[in-house]
Amino acid sequence: MRAVLGFDLHRLVPGRKCIICGVEIPYEKGLLGHSDADVGLHALIDALLAGAGLPDIGSLFPDSDPRYKNMDSALLLKEVLAKIKLLGIKIEFVDFTFICDEPKLSPYYEKMRKKLASLLEISPDHISFKAKTTEGLGWGGEKEAIACFCLLTLSP
Ligand code: MG
Repeated sequence: MRAVLGFDLHRLVPGRKCIICGVEIPYEKGLLGHSDADVGLHALIDALLAGAGLPDIGSLFPDSDPRYKNMDSALLLKEVLAKIKLLGIKIEFVDFTFICDEPKLSPYYEKMRKKLASLLEISPDHISFKAKTTEGLGWGGEKEAIACFCLLTLSP
């Protein structure tokens, strides 16, 4: 069994969608990035790549490549899942920790779980979510960004 950790952070700005784990979260701001900036899927992809001994997300899908402009990160995840499958690696459990003071994510956990269970082809009860605020401090308190840790267990 392997345990691997992925992390990502994206800035919150007006005029963008807030897409997390493939689900659009209604909010006055959205996540800024070259792709759709899905902070949850990016942390997950980096964890998967680490577990497979592959180069990280920035190396595989560079933000200088116009092909990935506003790209649905679920498509990037599918590409990575195909690589993982070829290596015979199986996802056992996925645990997300989001850091943000706003928006409130818990009302969307079930939708996110359903989406991920279908993408990852694992049981929904092997996917966990939680969110922590920064107690009003710093970038979290100023609602400037959302960060995400994704801890995965994989079996070779
Ligand atoms: Mg990212």
